Amino acid sequence: MTDFGTVQEAQADQLLKSAFDSLAQYRRSLAARPAYPSPLDLAQLADLDTNLPRTGEEPAEVLHQLATLGNRTAVPTTGGRYFGFVTGGVLPIGLAARILADGWDQASALHVMSPLAATLEELCERWIVKLLGLPEETLAGFVTGTSMATLCAFAAARHHLLKQLGWNTHDKGLAGAPPLRVIVNENAHSCIWRALRLLGFGENQFEKVRTDFQGRILTDQLPVIDNRCLVILQAGDVNTGSFDNFAAMSKITFQTGAWVHVDGAFGLWAACSPAYRNLTGGVEFADSWACDAHKTLNAPYECGLVLCRHEAAYREAMHTGASYAPLTQQRDGMALVPEMSRRARAIEIWAILRSLGRDGVAALVERLAKRANQMADLLVQAGIPVINDVVFNQVLVQFGDDGMTNRILGRIQASGECWCGGSRWKGRSVIRFSVCSWATTEDDIRRAAAAFIAARNAEADIV
Ligand SMILES: *Cc1c(COP(=O)(O)O)cnc(C)c1O
Repeated sequence: MTDFGTVQEAQADQLLKSAFDSLAQYRRSLAARPAYPSPLDLAQLADLDTNLPRTGEEPAEVLHQLATLGNRTAVPTTGGRYFGFVTGGVLPIGLAARILADGWDQASALHVMSPLAATLEELCERWIVKLLGLPEETLAGFVTGTSMATLCAFAAARHHLLKQLGWNTHDKGLAGAPPLRVIVNENAHSCIWRALRLLGFGENQFEKVRTDFQGRILTDQLPVIDNRCLVILQAGDVNTGSFDNFAAMSKITFQTGAWVHVDGAFGLWAACSPAYRNLTGGVEFADSWACDAHKTLNAPYECGLVLCRHEAAYREAMHTGASYAPLTQQRDGMALVPEMSRRARAIEIWAILRSLGRDGVAALVERLAKRANQMADLLVQAGIPVINDVVFNQVLVQFGDDGMTNRILGRIQASGECWCGGSRWKGRSVIRFSVCSWATTEDDIRRAAAAFIAARNAEADIV
């Protein structure tokens, strides 16, 4: 039988040291590794498929197995040549702080459970609100990601809009409530539609607003906005990286009583850079924002932020409290999110912000955008069509027809030189290249561009 008391404790040092050694080895191997694990390495995952044995195994042995397998099969998102989806590559200081936070095993539901976490949450809230140029009264909830942030923001919006119409959802629920309208960018991220459905909004309530080729709302296509509207805009389209025109939208929604939400998962961080701030100009007029520290800020995963300027409505929507867990006047993080027990994410966010400073955050944002532009320039020089305006960190590429685009994407992925994914844009297949990591160098971009060119040339030889 496992003796938890003495054996595990005696092994703790050794386990931690082994984990660190193996992680260091992994990081050192990144430069020489393909940008995605090979099919041969991934085939080893099948070996995991066993029933849970009745007897346990030595922790040191388990860790060894895990480290060996993980070092071969982990997707190298922390390397400089991964450009899939819109992810983010963790900054070493963020990783190190997270390791500390996990080691301390802090739960951040209530202030009393971790004064450290509560203090850092409060501080990060203040710093981030200022960095993003949002109204001073804006609150921040530290959630898993933009999907959850969106759900929280919409819950607050629903509560606020219905209350404005004389309907209190806390007493009456939703049945029979005055109908709300959802005015939404037709290209909204999939997490928007899911959050709406989870909160009881249905397809018939969606008024999808047409967009230009870049994915920006055409303001002359907007329906009349009134105090029953939840208006959903984007700071950074997940495909093109484009930003809605917030300044124009603020004039249209001004004093209508509508609630405006901005999905700024990766793009809201543009506000931190003097060079890119024009993209988010006017965004501070909105009522709520969702963004991810685990994307552009390069924090470890599960660092999402819901930001909202209406503290009362927001707190009412999230209202909680239990006899054994009463809320206090201090920062009780669980009052601002749907969960109770949570990792103390503010610890790693604080460490990143403290190490970068305002200038460092701006430099990080600019670095990503600069590399995306470098990629676009190299592709265009080689005659490869880039179909979006590269305003931020996204580059969209399209070849002759969908079949060709997909075949060339397959060749790029198989090359191991860089990895990116595909998508559909305005009804056609595209290759989607997203620069999200501090680790990406100019040389990485040159290799990636060379991989695109080689794949295009190989395809041309066959056709
Ligand atoms: C990534 C992303 C989301 C979803 O964020 P998660 O953190 O993965 O939940 C939403 N909107 C946009 C624009 C995104 O890029």
